Amino acid sequence: AKLDGRGSLQHFRQHFHDELVRQHRLVERLERAIVNRELHLHYQPQVSVVSGRIENLEALLRWTPLEGEPVSPAEFIPLAERSGLIHQLGDWVMEEACRQQAAWRAAGRVDSRVDINLSGRQVLAPDTLERLEACVARHGLRPQDIGIELTENVLIEADAGILERLRYLYHRGVRIAIDDFGTGYSSLSYLKHFPVTALKIDRAFVRDAPEQPEDRAIMEATIFIGHRLGLEVVAEGVETAEQLALLREMRCDLVQGYLFHPPMPAEDIDRLLVGPGVG
Ligand code: C2E
Ligand code: CA
Ligand code: CA
Ligand code: CA
Repeated sequence: AKLDGRGSLQHFRQHFHDELVRQHRLVERLERAIVNRELHLHYQPQVSVVSGRIENLEALLRWTPLEGEPVSPAEFIPLAERSGLIHQLGDWVMEEACRQQAAWRAAGRVDSRVDINLSGRQVLAPDTLERLEACVARHGLRPQDIGIELTENVLIEADAGILERLRYLYHRGVRIAIDDFGTGYSSLSYLKHFPVTALKIDRAFVRDAPEQPEDRAIMEATIFIGHRLGLEVVAEGVETAEQLALLREMRCDLVQGYLFHPPMPAEDIDRLLVGPGVG
């Protein structure tokens, strides 16, 4: 078919406009999500490949508007980043994750660490890490009860002040994982200078590793370099026994994915950890 230049441009403009309006409405609804109590945290276990034990729980934000369908964080987190709402959302996540972890520890049931995702704009804001530290202390938690996940791009962009803060947290025992490792645009040299305790292999590599030699090679190289640097390596998005077999063979430390447990509400974690067969 022949393209009508003007027609398709108009069509594009209309589409672009509609999309902006939609995003704007979503941000307005998100602004009310905290007061309306529409936000929840789910927790996804990370399991030791060797012992099968649940070591950590990754906190993942869920938004179910009072009226309407749940919205994926893959959609609303980037919007929150652009609009600046991420600071309020991020504070809510920190507070809720620390509150829940304190409740678990008080009940004497869970000795798993809780890991919080921090997005770029959040970490790069000057006082986020101080507020995290204050939050941990306020809930009577030890630094090692909480971990953070951030992407390599954030580390590259961090200024001296932020890096110093991260180093301080690292030395106090807060675990720091690089999320989506290998998907950014950075060289590996930054690993030498930055306070990091773990690498997380992105789910795209894990998904394709059984079929694609390239993905398998990247997975293996990540585990190798992680271990040579004394870091823990976590694979996310593990869905099949075949993927697990590969990861075991490559001596990956921790695995996380639907093959083991999906992200779930805190009550389900309680049941999982006190349920039959666990003790
Ligand atoms: P991420 O940090 O890379 O998290 C992994 C995503 O994979 C999660 O999606 C998780 O639910 C999903 N997942 C876990 N196991 C499997 C599996 O076996 N197969 C497949 N296909 N997916 C699996 P989710 O929860 O939709 O979160 C999407 C992204 O949103 C996260 O990616 C993270 O970047 C962001 N996010 C989520 N919660 C927060 C938060 O509290 N703060 C910030 N800043 N970002 C968050
Ligand atoms: Ca993550
Ligand atoms: Ca991520
Ligand atoms: Ca990922």
